[in-house]
Amino acid sequence: MDIKISALQFTREVKSGNLSAEEFMAKTLEQIQKVEEKLHAFLSLNDNALKQAKEIDKKIKLGQKIGKCFGMPISIKDNICIKDTKTTCASKMLENFVAPYDATVITKLKQQDAIFVGKVNLDEFAMGLTTEFSAYGPSRNPWNTDYVPGGSSGGSAVSVSAFECVASLGSDTGGSVRNPASFCSTVGYKPTYGLISRYGLISYANSIEQIGPLTRTVEDTAFMLNLISGIDSNDDTTVDNHGEDYLKNIDSGIEGKKIGIIKEMIGDGIDPAVLSATKDAISKLEGLGAKCEEMSLDMVKYSVAAYYTITATEAGSNLARYDNLRYGYDFSVEGYEFNSYIEKARKKLGPEVTRRMILGGFVPSAGHAGKYFLKALKVKNKLTRQINDAFKKFDLLIAPTVPILPFKIGEKIDDPVALFLVDINTVTANLTGKPAISIPFAISHGLPIGIQLIANSMDDKLLLQAAHALEKTVKLPEVPI
Ligand code: GLN
Repeated sequence: MDIKISALQFTREVKSGNLSAEEFMAKTLEQIQKVEEKLHAFLSLNDNALKQAKEIDKKIKLGQKIGKCFGMPISIKDNICIKDTKTTCASKMLENFVAPYDATVITKLKQQDAIFVGKVNLDEFAMGLTTEFSAYGPSRNPWNTDYVPGGSSGGSAVSVSAFECVASLGSDTGGSVRNPASFCSTVGYKPTYGLISRYGLISYANSIEQIGPLTRTVEDTAFMLNLISGIDSNDDTTVDNHGEDYLKNIDSGIEGKKIGIIKEMIGDGIDPAVLSATKDAISKLEGLGAKCEEMSLDMVKYSVAAYYTITATEAGSNLARYDNLRYGYDFSVEGYEFNSYIEKARKKLGPEVTRRMILGGFVPSAGHAGKYFLKALKVKNKLTRQINDAFKKFDLLIAPTVPILPFKIGEKIDDPVALFLVDINTVTANLTGKPAISIPFAISHGLPIGIQLIANSMDDKLLLQAAHALEKTVKLPEVPI
């Protein structure tokens, strides 16, 4: 039996009785046993996964009604709540936190008979892009275990890439689904803001972040989107997509589509291998009948600074609840006055989160807000106007997902600003609310390169059609694990 199949293949095989959900789950758990010591994708495993798979087979045998996932093993980033399951955000602060309710995406997947094989690693509270800021140790890139897998949804990308599950859910505030997807050679999707409910996603910067799938194929992403998108009364920022079927007509192709090449994302600092992969993607798109043309979004040069100013501010407010009064761990108040108690409580937060909290306290503060936070909001607005104008002329935009190749574990950990700059190509979609996808496109020196396509708000279907067309032109070697 092949555990390297796509989500759609899995559902077809189980549905037709050619594959047993239990056997597949057993193989998946075996694979996890085999590779976890090297990769460390998981923070916790579901002890009932095999039993749940057995139930699926039983239901099929009895001809009972069954959901569209047919017992598919899915991994979940550990900042998404599954009821009665530990949800740590890879932080010592939430080491023993058990979620009291299901996130909406989890409820929806449970209704479709998905099986959550385990919770996967991330940078603490999703702040980072290498998974090195996890309080439980880094995940490793299956293509070369000396290298980072990207982040913050590193565990999601590793688990999909190394066949420890069929699909995963991550969250993308500034690239956290697309960056690890690019570094590990999986598909990673950041939907239009509001397309997927954030209810039950532990907030980092809620005005721009979205849950998104990581899968082996673009079709699998469309399949997942069909199951988890749509309006939710528990999240007022959700938008109604009227039950859109993202799989339908996914083969439409991109004949005649106009694609803008974002100049600012292929400039200084880009790795030559990444540039050449991007050029190759452009010529393949042209070969498929699209018209590609270079264009400019000049506010991109301020996007990283604006992104970190806005996200730190929101994080400062969202993470204020980890004060040991509402959430945290237990220690006695004896001998502390209020401030020293909170200060001690917050010592459980790691260095990167602490840095963001300090920044998030400062940039919106009286006397400084005009220089930092309000200015960042202006950049966000201007960038949004620029990209909206661009979509009057272009159907899609293209850029490499990340301007550089995956780097070695430890290589950039002491240089936060260098790390921030790696986000230059991903944050624009978040700041402007646009949907964006990373697809596996090339391998250079044994390391993956992803290509990013961006569409206008609510053009998610067009984006998936284009990504699917491009994906079909690519043939990559198998991951060497
Ligand atoms: N690297 C970015 C950050 O640290 C993105 C993180 C994310 O998308 N969650 O904020």
